[in-house]
Amino acid sequence: MELTKLAESLEQHYDETRKFQYIAEQVTSGLFLDEVLDKVFETFRAVIPYNRLGAAFLSDDKLHLTHYWGRSDAAKILIQPGFTASMVGSSLQTVIETGRPRILNDLETYLTEHPKSHSTRLMVDEGVRSSLTCPLIAHGKSIGFLFFSSFAMNTYEHVHQGAYLRLAVQLSLLVEKSRLYQDLYEINQELQEAKRVLYDQAIHDELTGLYNRRAIMDLLNSRLSRATREGFPISLVMIDIDYFKKINDDYGHPFGDLALKAVAERLNRCVRDYNRIGRYGGEEFLIVLDRDDAEAAEHIAERLRMSVADETLIECGHQVHLTVSIGVAIATTAIDLDPHQFISVADQALYNAKQNGRNQVVVRYAG
Ligand code: GH3
Ligand code: MG
Ligand code: MG
Repeated sequence: MELTKLAESLEQHYDETRKFQYIAEQVTSGLFLDEVLDKVFETFRAVIPYNRLGAAFLSDDKLHLTHYWGRSDAAKILIQPGFTASMVGSSLQTVIETGRPRILNDLETYLTEHPKSHSTRLMVDEGVRSSLTCPLIAHGKSIGFLFFSSFAMNTYEHVHQGAYLRLAVQLSLLVEKSRLYQDLYEINQELQEAKRVLYDQAIHDELTGLYNRRAIMDLLNSRLSRATREGFPISLVMIDIDYFKKINDDYGHPFGDLALKAVAERLNRCVRDYNRIGRYGGEEFLIVLDRDDAEAAEHIAERLRMSVADETLIECGHQVHLTVSIGVAIATTAIDLDPHQFISVADQALYNAKQNGRNQVVVRYAG
């Protein structure tokens, strides 16, 4: 008889241990804080009853407690993330000092005795009637609380305090670690974003939003070596606004800037996305065309020229007719071309377009 009892007791003990082991395994599989808390919500029911779980963290100076996370069987949660309460004079101080979970088994009565407790009022409004408030203590320092709560009165007993305490150290360390991990992750995300923004700024021209000179030169270098390697044609289109100095002189530099932006937009509309346009100099633009577009370069250049010449620019009460001259350099075969040589061919063509009277396209073959 005694032996059967002992066997039953051992069996029960073994069952318990297995439950706790399962919870620990599940919870530690979470990497981010939210994952860890979700796992707690999903697994702790085996040892503690609850309808709702909340997590709140103390500020570094321990003067404030901010609600971080909550999950409930009920549809509504009234205590939202970010909800902050002062710790000065709070009854939660006792929970920190004793390090033991606190049981409140009749929250409605507690509220009539502590009518100023805003968070208790919100909990009662959510339907909560009992609560088990558990301290999170990592490396001997309190970091916050887990609030287990139930919609029924008198839910919590001594055994539930014990169940929490059995996992408290491991859980608190895990919460702390996943919080740090989450912080690091978020900082890293912000850094990545800042890096992306900086890179974007580094390759674009501020006024027109086009590639800047360095970026278009990099693009030319890489497209040129690819064209040489793979044996397909490549063309360069160099565009210069005609008599632009006069625009500045007649209407002022700010108007000149607007005109530059307008020209950039018109040019941009004429080319496909992968044929990036760069602002090569003050009022000079450079476009790299490859494959099919390289062979159609003259046609594309003509379209670019017309896009500027065909539309009168109306800005700030001025009506201005702008034109551009365009030099095109075409390399039909995979010749070993130096980018500067290639540019000087386009430059020469542009010079000829200016000489011939402007507002026109001149084509020259490279190599
Ligand atoms: P051409 O037809 O021979 O090209 O005559 P142009 O007047 O356009 O040529 P020039 O090279 O003499 O003048 C270019 C002018 O472009 C001079 C400069 O003030 C103006 N410019 C360059 N960059 C900017 C800019 O960012 N904003 C403004 N508003 N003007 C600029
Ligand atoms: Mg110029
Ligand atoms: Mg010019």
